[in-house]
Amino acid sequence: MGVTIPPAETAWLLHSILGFDAMAREETLAVLEEATRLAENVLAPLDAPGDRHGTRLEAGQVISPPGFAEAFTRYAEGGWIGIAADPDHGGQGLSHVVALAAFEPVSSANMAFGLCPMLTQDAIALLAAHGTPDQQSRLLSPMVDGRWTGTMCLTEPQSGSDLSGVRTRAEPQPDGSYAITGQKIYITWGEHQFTENILHLVLARVPDAPAGSAGISLFAVPKRHADGSANAVTCISLEHKLGIHASPTCVMVFEAARGELIGPLHRGLPSMFAMMNAARLGVAMQGVAVAERAYRRAANFASLRSQGGAAIDTHPDVRRMLWTMRALALGGRLLTLYAAGSEAARAQLLIPVAKAWSTDAGVEAASLGIQVHGGMGYVEETGAAQHWRDARIAPIYEGTNGIQAITLLRRGLLRDQGAAMTALLDEIAATPPLRATAMAVAEAAAWLRQANPRDAEAGAHAFLQAVGTLTAAWLCGRVTAAVGAPPAAAAAATVFAAQILPRALAATATIAHPHPAISGDNAFA
Ligand SMILES: Cc1cc2nc3c(=O)[nH]c(=O)nc-3n(C[C@H](O)[C@H](O)[C@H](O)COP(=O)(O)OP(=O)(O)OC[C@H]3O[C@@H](n4cnc5c(N)ncnc54)[C@H](O)[C@@H]3O)c2cc1C
Repeated sequence: MGVTIPPAETAWLLHSILGFDAMAREETLAVLEEATRLAENVLAPLDAPGDRHGTRLEAGQVISPPGFAEAFTRYAEGGWIGIAADPDHGGQGLSHVVALAAFEPVSSANMAFGLCPMLTQDAIALLAAHGTPDQQSRLLSPMVDGRWTGTMCLTEPQSGSDLSGVRTRAEPQPDGSYAITGQKIYITWGEHQFTENILHLVLARVPDAPAGSAGISLFAVPKRHADGSANAVTCISLEHKLGIHASPTCVMVFEAARGELIGPLHRGLPSMFAMMNAARLGVAMQGVAVAERAYRRAANFASLRSQGGAAIDTHPDVRRMLWTMRALALGGRLLTLYAAGSEAARAQLLIPVAKAWSTDAGVEAASLGIQVHGGMGYVEETGAAQHWRDARIAPIYEGTNGIQAITLLRRGLLRDQGAAMTALLDEIAATPPLRATAMAVAEAAAWLRQANPRDAEAGAHAFLQAVGTLTAAWLCGRVTAAVGAPPAAAAAATVFAAQILPRALAATATIAHPHPAISGDNAFA
């Protein structure tokens, strides 16, 4: 059994279930087959060795696991980084939906590796949206070609979920550039030796900027200047972390590093959102990808391991776990691809849902994958543990899942009187088997809208779970009703309706019951 979803299944879901028509089905299939070959043959063999080897910092240089630099070169030469970029900048100009679908096998095969091109693609999307024509002509094609990579430098020690506290400074220089000074932490692929340059996209403040998020601007800061000399940006240490060991997580120091402003002054956060939406879909797909990979490893193990006189996959409880993993992967895949392909209002509504739901699903599936292996799941050599360790970051980065739930609450329910949410729930409620659940979610939405803000925030996680589960069930319902569904997808969709959908109702039942305080005047203090 391969380590990734069969390309024909994804192509079928895109065209027959999600109505994707930006490309011919044969073309979609050809792209997915090619991505799968690269994933299975080049990236998957580096996954476990990369996890064991990890990364090291020597004299300011990050030493990556053997084979990663060569794999990056092959990835770039295959045109994968620029798959959805504008042909004017050397890209292939394909739909971002197909690019996202092609990212699944890459992340299944090697999640740590996939982050490097993913962030580069997100940087390309940001510059394409907010760079001047001059900036685009200088900065885009080296990233599209894979000669440079891109990073996203937001987080600082005192400023994580709340970016309004960013302190990195940007001093205007006489030549129009800025001198960037400060420290950024947790910067993914912030330093490596794969490429001639790295372009850091950095949030910082100019002197006398307004306080809070309204005073943050965005800057492009290269590791090397155009003449090849070093800019004043250094990786001073690497984090030792639970998973994605092959992906360097860097502490970056900027010491009057030369940078240029991207987009208008003080509008850095809105500009960065162009990148963050794309990145959230990418992270959602990581959740799906790790669920699929964990399922495949566990299913293979369960067919070989025998207990009680039979292969363990014949035992009903093991089947329960394997089908739950498969159903979670299918639901997350449909939700994520649907969010990516939706028109703007629905995409805005569903991107935080897809990010949080699919990454939680990835962790649940990877945990079940360990359980299917029994004691061998807890032992590193089977690889099941790595999937869980890798999966665990996805609910945290790109905005924690708690923050995604609050985003859904504020943007999806309170802005525009929740018009996009109402439209979605009305559409789902027209499907008879889902009517009761859709109405319960609509009632929960009505309660959240009138609740005081803190009570509403307490219910936001459950609400997101309910919306994600219901929407995924709706899309799975299309699979069940379709003619010609791949048998495994049809069976997983049926399992989703029977076993996962009821979680939506259970979640709505919890929403109006805020938790007591932990510190202060309460019983636990
Ligand atoms: C491996 C790794 C890679 C990363 N890569 C990058 C990168 O490339 N670039 C980058 O800029 N950053 C990166 N990050 C940082 C990541 O985005 C942050 O860790 C994340 O946004 C959370 O910030 P924090 O760690 O400061 O946690 P905190 O913000 O302190 O949050 C801690 C907890 O409190 C909750 N919380 C915080 N505020 C609220 C609130 N208002 N309401 C409800 N709950 C709240 C959170 O949900 C979380 O559960 C990375 C982190 C890791 C671990």
